[in-house]
Amino acid sequence: MAVLKPDFELHHFSDITSDWLKQHNISTIFSDLDSTLAVHDQPGEQEVNEWIQSLSHHGAQLVVVSNNSDERVDKFCDPFGIPGFGDCKKPSPSIIKQHMKEMKVEPESSLFLGDQLLTDVWCGKRLKMKTALVKPIGREHEPIQIVWKRKLEYWIKKGW
Ligand SMILES: [Mg+2]
Repeated sequence: MAVLKPDFELHHFSDITSDWLKQHNISTIFSDLDSTLAVHDQPGEQEVNEWIQSLSHHGAQLVVVSNNSDERVDKFCDPFGIPGFGDCKKPSPSIIKQHMKEMKVEPESSLFLGDQLLTDVWCGKRLKMKTALVKPIGREHEPIQIVWKRKLEYWIKKGW
């Protein structure tokens, strides 16, 4: 399943620095929310706050794209003043494609960041962006359907 192989495998969102973004010519990050930027259904912690500040300081844009509800996304994004969209229906690219069009953002200068191959990486590939997979944050809080999906992802990765 090499088609699902991300361009980058990182430990944590904070591995993405302004230098790293410059090096890879990326100005916009489309990021998953739950288990990527925060524990499932929990608010962002100080670390994500500092990371978001440093991105905006260096002119990079962060856009949250989640399959969770708009309410969850707004609750997370509003304190940071960053744009975010819920109910994105990943891995389908169509809703995010529409947001990209409205925001006038090109896939060539974008990165898709997430913790799930079958949701985030696949979606980013379909949007023709670079993709980065991170290790999930706070796995003990994840819903059961995500736990099963991770087992499937484990077998996909074994085939690389
Ligand atoms: Mg996630």
